[in-house]
Amino acid sequence: MTEVYAADHVVPVGVAPLRGGAVAVRDGEIVAVGSRAEVLTAHPDAHVEELGAAILLPALVNVHTHLEYASYGGFGDGLTFGPWIADHVARRPRLEPGDVEAIAALGALQNLRSGVGTIADASFAGASVRAASEAGLRGIVDIEAFGGKGQDPAPTVERTWERIQAHRAEASALIRVGISPHAPYTVTPALYRALDALARAEGLSIITHVAESKGELEAIASGTGPVAVALRDLAEVEASGLHPVDLMAELGLLRPDVLLVHMVQITPEHARMVAAGGAGIAHCPRSNALLGCGAAPLADMLAAGVHVGIGTDSPASAVDFDLWDEIRTAIFTARSREALPDALTAHQALELATIGGARALGYGDAIGTLEVGKRADLTAIDLVGTPFAEVEDPIVSAVFSGSPERTLLTVVDGVVRYRRATDEGRLAAALAAARPARTRMIGS
Ligand SMILES: [Zn+2]
Repeated sequence: MTEVYAADHVVPVGVAPLRGGAVAVRDGEIVAVGSRAEVLTAHPDAHVEELGAAILLPALVNVHTHLEYASYGGFGDGLTFGPWIADHVARRPRLEPGDVEAIAALGALQNLRSGVGTIADASFAGASVRAASEAGLRGIVDIEAFGGKGQDPAPTVERTWERIQAHRAEASALIRVGISPHAPYTVTPALYRALDALARAEGLSIITHVAESKGELEAIASGTGPVAVALRDLAEVEASGLHPVDLMAELGLLRPDVLLVHMVQITPEHARMVAAGGAGIAHCPRSNALLGCGAAPLADMLAAGVHVGIGTDSPASAVDFDLWDEIRTAIFTARSREALPDALTAHQALELATIGGARALGYGDAIGTLEVGKRADLTAIDLVGTPFAEVEDPIVSAVFSGSPERTLLTVVDGVVRYRRATDEGRLAAALAAARPARTRMIGS
């Protein structure tokens, strides 16, 4: 059965938008993109979904999530980075069995509701695997590993591999499970090396948080400062005398299949090193701003030719999983940082959140644009009632009016995984299921 999605505006990304366009989908694949008349004539027997005054575009790619922190919004607000992360670690024991699963399920639904079809998740408990799989999301879920100074890497590697294999059994065909060595201030160089050896041997992706805060730079260089002190109970940092990006380079971790998250405290030379190595970067401007970590030099990354995507991080640091708000913040941040109105255009920002993110995760040939032969990952923004309903530039309209409330539907691999008209009750149920966990973490 062929399904045709028709809308007043179709934004394929990479080629010019179409006024009165349509996309035909069969067996999860895009089989036609063109004017409404063309596509309907070529597929006379198709079921047609008319989206009306809407913008149809590729489903977004959220290159950094922690689904398991969907209910953490506002915790530790205003704390500096080290104490903030320690606050989250301290709340975790208050959770009860089933809590993490309920929170992760909510996070998965909130991503779909924000037009996201693909995620790259760093998962502490592993609950993200089932949540993302059951929601029908595409992407990678990398299981977090930690290990400080003086700890033997071998048992951690063994346990991480066992966990990965166990979680693979519950992963859908669209979810790949990999490894996330958390960050250079919680993972020793020896453990990075051992986990990387496992990743290379088994073909696993790697996600790691790098060069996020100034405190991290001090911790990695000399083993001192607020980040080193705040996380001492979790993992004692091993001083390397290096900048975290230089450490990653020394460890061979600037290669493809590695996603470097944040990269705020870097130089133009670091951006060139990442581009040469082939790693992707997850740019998370709201998280970086709210934690006072700074504004990542996106212009340097793009000038160097790095594969950059945009990520919400989690509500723990960025309030919610609204990737449209993240895209706008990326624009505000880049233009403020460079003091230039074209430091990041709406067109460039949408590319980062679609094909850019897809490339950063190694999915560039499969998704990220609406093209014949690619997998059918789509979303649609309802323009009714917005100031952008009279459309001059549909990309500008999408970028400045996109929101979870205006997402009409999200399709992943040809299947409608979220539909505003019918999923209100599902959202309310997911929120209700996750609420007791938040109450426990607040401790009242
Ligand atoms: Zn993160």
